Amino acid sequence: MDRCSFCGREKRDTNLLIAGISGHICDNCIEQAYDIVLEELKKTGDFDINSIQLVKPAEIKKFLDQYVIGQDEAKKYLSVAVYNHYKRLMHHNRKDEEVEIEKSNIVLIGATGTGKTLLARTIARLLNVPFTIVDATVLTEAGYVGEDIESILTRLLQVADYNVEAAEKGIVFIDEIDKIARKSDNPSITRDVSGEGVQQGLLKLLEGSVINVPPQGGRKHPDQKMIPVDTKNILFICGGAFDGIEKKIGQRLNTKVVGYNASKNSELIDRENLLQYIAPQDLKAYGLIPEIIGRLPVLTYLNPLDRNALRQILTEPKNSIVKQYVKLFDMDGIKLTFKDQALEYIVDKAIEFRLGARGLRSICEAIMMDDMFDLPSKNEKEDLVITKKYAVEKLEKQDIKRLKVA
Ligand code: ADP
Repeated sequence: MDRCSFCGREKRDTNLLIAGISGHICDNCIEQAYDIVLEELKKTGDFDINSIQLVKPAEIKKFLDQYVIGQDEAKKYLSVAVYNHYKRLMHHNRKDEEVEIEKSNIVLIGATGTGKTLLARTIARLLNVPFTIVDATVLTEAGYVGEDIESILTRLLQVADYNVEAAEKGIVFIDEIDKIARKSDNPSITRDVSGEGVQQGLLKLLEGSVINVPPQGGRKHPDQKMIPVDTKNILFICGGAFDGIEKKIGQRLNTKVVGYNASKNSELIDRENLLQYIAPQDLKAYGLIPEIIGRLPVLTYLNPLDRNALRQILTEPKNSIVKQYVKLFDMDGIKLTFKDQALEYIVDKAIEFRLGARGLRSICEAIMMDDMFDLPSKNEKEDLVITKKYAVEKLEKQDIKRLKVA
């Protein structure tokens, strides 16, 4: 009599009994075993945190170079900070060490669309750790309409598939950190729901403490089981445009250069790009509280993207916009090419609309839309060449105004 070698059921008591070399397994045991496999996989998830390779700063930068154009200064700072962060994690496992290496959260300052998010995203891709982006503007103090600070960690847990150990070594990119700046320099009489209160809340996360996180997000609920997450080893990268901070930098630089040697120093200042002189006190003048600034020790900036950079962004990164379109059309058996002049035209328009790198994509989308709609259903597959004339024609057909506000 054949029976399941796992549960002992006889063949007639099962729906299915599969024979192996020296035993049998029934459908019921297969299902149970499958659940166990899933459960086990979940524990390690996609993120095998223990096998993180320590990548040297120069290698990190080289990797970033494949995806992000320019921004050498920010790449260098980021590479060193990430390298130190992971060195710190490894060091931390050895309890006997006496010197404690402090965490180095990062702030990236630069106009929108210059690559802040892209840098953070690319770093996370290299390290294969859980990574999430949150927008500081939706955060409010507990008890107010908006999201609690803890929601940041809920997101991280979700991308880590609730693998707490992995989430605790993840990276969080907090975008628009400048939007939670105190609105005015004097701590105001009325409560500043989205400003200083949120900064105080964030502080807890940044400095590293155990936070009770609602696993499904949303408001804290008395019956909801919380997951404690230690943020000590989570790397926080904050990004913000800090519109108008150049003025604060300028003021600071001017007050510094009075007196002896003043004229010589001020000549050396590149007034076109004051962001490169950004210092912690400028963030304070902008309205970040000193405690937060203290918890973001690595401060660096991104350059505005010039014509040259925009042109490179179109074609050079590993997954550049143009390469993506070529791939999309290739999947339909169509060979797509762009003439140089068409690419120049796209860059011109992005500059004209003041859309930066973000605009390149919407302009390309507008030019390619008809073809993306029509070509897949054509029987004869012809190659498609985008010339300047063709690009002008397609773009002018579109509602340009719509693009401008995009
Ligand atoms: P930010 O976070 O600074 O507002 P993003 O990183 O979101 O800007 O950039 C928006 C898009 O523009 C990116 O998805 C990318 O396609 C492109 N981009 C911006 N800056 C660069 C850059 N330096 N190199 C390559 N692509 C860039």
